Amino acid sequence: MGRRVYIKTFGCQMNEHDSERMLALLEGCGYQETERWEEADVILVNTCTVREKPEQKAYSILGRFQQLKENNPAVIVGIAGCVAQQGGERLFARMPGLDFVLGPGKIHQLPEILHDVEKGKQGVCAIDFENGAFVNLPIPHVRQLSAYVTIMQGCDNFCSYCIVPSVRGRERSRPSHDILAEIGALTQTGTKEVTLLGQNVNAYAKNNPHELTFPQLLAKINEIPGMERIRFTTSHPRDLTEGTIEAFGTVEHLCEHLHLPFQAGSDVVLTRMNRGHTREEYLSQVKRLREKVPQISITADVMVGFPGESEADFDQTLALMQAVEFDGLFSFKYSPRKGTRAAQWKDDCPPEVKQGRLEMLQELQRGITLRKNKALERAIREVLVEGRSRNSPHKMTGRTRCNRIVNFPGNHELAGELVKVKITEGLQNSLRGEHRG
Ligand code: SAM
Ligand code: SF4
Repeated sequence: MGRRVYIKTFGCQMNEHDSERMLALLEGCGYQETERWEEADVILVNTCTVREKPEQKAYSILGRFQQLKENNPAVIVGIAGCVAQQGGERLFARMPGLDFVLGPGKIHQLPEILHDVEKGKQGVCAIDFENGAFVNLPIPHVRQLSAYVTIMQGCDNFCSYCIVPSVRGRERSRPSHDILAEIGALTQTGTKEVTLLGQNVNAYAKNNPHELTFPQLLAKINEIPGMERIRFTTSHPRDLTEGTIEAFGTVEHLCEHLHLPFQAGSDVVLTRMNRGHTREEYLSQVKRLREKVPQISITADVMVGFPGESEADFDQTLALMQAVEFDGLFSFKYSPRKGTRAAQWKDDCPPEVKQGRLEMLQELQRGITLRKNKALERAIREVLVEGRSRNSPHKMTGRTRCNRIVNFPGNHELAGELVKVKITEGLQNSLRGEHRG
């Protein structure tokens, strides 16, 4: 039996993707993944520090693994991701029993690091960023119908609340020939949908006149035989160019869905957040997108309880949501992150007020989402079938181009196919439908 690794991932798609790549690296040196941490030889916790909650969860699970180590000292425990980057060497003092700390810029060194630890080296810490270069990582061995491909790393925006620029480093765009080669290779193994990843994805190569622009990159990916669907996340309104808006509706395989966080509806708050756009600018981008592609689905991130956010500011957030009618929304309570500019300001919104605002906003969004899902009843949509529905073995599940989940009765042989489905019922979090060929 080969050695087994258990990976626990917190946080965003970027972290999920990093975990996939770490697993691919370890499989390349003979490790197998296990879903049971009790039987693992190596336990790796890939962490997130963007908000307080995922960070606390990561520390609590690491505590459990340390106890495991007391009974079985041979097991190797490592921490990766943003908490690793931020904590560095200090984490060894905080967590006795921790064997290694691996920052997001050093993932490619994981096999060497494990080798060193296995040979008895203690307290291995790797957290640099390789002089700002983009490091290619191996593609997972398993066939992926839908795959993530990183096209840029880091962020230069320095939103005042956000820890990402300090833990993921400055913006680095990946050479387009590497991106195209990776997507070409993925399609050869059956990938039909690709999601381009970056913290600020639409800023791709914006300062490099010798590289493809972001819309040119989308057009090139569109030409790759077998690539049926292109998505990208996360976009920043500051870098949403007319060229990218134009790409929707003209680049055939680019799906009609844009995740465009707005964070707050009040200009006063947006300025203090250092977002670099106003409420009006955001609304006019939404207008342009809908002029170009009326059915485009727009989702966003929003925060409540930012320092100094008044009732009137919060009302502006609700009003913006009513004006836009988002197709979906990720909403968060602000939490101060050490080292950010906003952490120097008083976190003056009481927890119960944050909670109340969050609930109000989520209730408003639930109504909008349900109304929009119901409006799709009787429409026919293209669905990329991912597999059997988790809740019903007789149903298949997939997504529309606008990224809505659809469940419909169907044969498992449809998995991996693009099919037409008539929507029969719009629910809160998904759609029901009938297969139409
Ligand atoms: N790069 C993306 C962007 O600019 O929107 C996403 C960054 S972050 C990983 C995802 C979301 O977490 C943000 O859009 C924001 O709403 C939220 N977030 C970031 N920092 C936060 C903080 N200190 N407290 C609460 N939410 C936060
Ligand atoms: Fe953080 Fe702002 Fe960069 Fe997004 S754009 S990662 S919120 S600093």
